[in-house]
Amino acid sequence: MTLKFGVPNKGRLNERTIELLTKAGLDLGEDIGRKLYIKARNQDVEVLFLRAQDIPEFVATGAIDIGITGQDQVAESGYSLIDALDLRFGYCHMAVAVPEASGIRDASEIKDGSRIATSYPNIARRYFESLGKEVSIIVVTGAAEIMPYLGISDFIVDLVSTGSTLKMNRMIEAGRILDSQAAVFTSEAALQEQGALISELVNSIQSVIEAENKKYVMADVPRARLPEVEAIIPGIGGPTVLEIAGNGEYVAVHAVIDSDQTFHVIAELKRIGAKGILTTPIERLVN
Ligand code: AMP
Repeated sequence: MTLKFGVPNKGRLNERTIELLTKAGLDLGEDIGRKLYIKARNQDVEVLFLRAQDIPEFVATGAIDIGITGQDQVAESGYSLIDALDLRFGYCHMAVAVPEASGIRDASEIKDGSRIATSYPNIARRYFESLGKEVSIIVVTGAAEIMPYLGISDFIVDLVSTGSTLKMNRMIEAGRILDSQAAVFTSEAALQEQGALISELVNSIQSVIEAENKKYVMADVPRARLPEVEAIIPGIGGPTVLEIAGNGEYVAVHAVIDSDQTFHVIAELKRIGAKGILTTPIERLVN
C-alpha cells in the first residue's frame, strides 16, 4: 500500500522539508511547488502538501501515515502522536508576551479576567489553567502581537524565534510555555501497517541530517607526527591511516569530523606539518 507522507505546503517549514526529503532519496520530479500531491518516482510513497496545522489531525485519524510539522502544532492539536525524529530546524518557542508598559514581568502577575489573543487557544488555555488563572482567550489567525495595541486583548500567547517581532511591538516575554522544532510524526496504527517503510524513510532523513553536520577531511601527515593526529581528530572510531605509494615520509589520514571543528582541525594539521589538506561534504552518514 502506498505510504502517505504529509508535508507543509507553504510557510517556514516547507522549503527545508522538501530539501530533506529530496536529499533522503525521494525523487519528486519537477514542479514540486505547484502540485497538491506527488507520487515519488522511485518509492511507494505519495507526498501530500498540506497546511502545517492540519498535519497532526491527519496523522492521528489515519488520513496520512506520516507527516512533518512543528511540535507546537502537535501540542495545539492535543493528539498524542509518535515523534519519530526531531529535524533540528524550525526552532521556536511559545511564550506569553505582555506590553512593556503593562509593568508585568512574569506571567504569575497576570490578573484573572485578562484577555489573551492567540492562534494557539488550546495551548494558551492549558497554560493558564496550570497557573490557576481564569482568563478569556481571543482566537486570532495571525498577527497576535498587534492585538494589545488595537485594544482587542491585554496580552498574547505566540511563537517567538528571534524576539524581534515582540521588540518591534514593544512587548516582552513574561513566560515560556514550550519549545518547538520541526519533527517527523507518525502513529501506532501507521507503524503497524507500514513500519518497515516508515523506519527506512526516517533513517534516511536522519542520515542526511547527521551528514550535514559532518565533513570528511583528508591530509598527508609526516609519519613521525602521527601520534598527534589522534588528539586533533577524535573522529568516528579514529582516523584511517593509509600508506602513500613511493613516499615513506608521509602517510594519508582520512577522518570524519564535526563541521564546526573544521577550522580548528585544519589549523592543527598545518601546525604538525600536514600537506594537501582537503575537506569535502558527506551525503549520508549511516551508523
Ligand atoms: P508557518 O506555516 O510559516 O506559519 O509556520 C508554521 C510553523 O513554523 C510553526 O508551527 C512553527 O513550528 C514554525 N516556526 C518556527 N519559527 C517560527 C516563528 N517565529 N513564528 C511562527 N512559526 C515559526
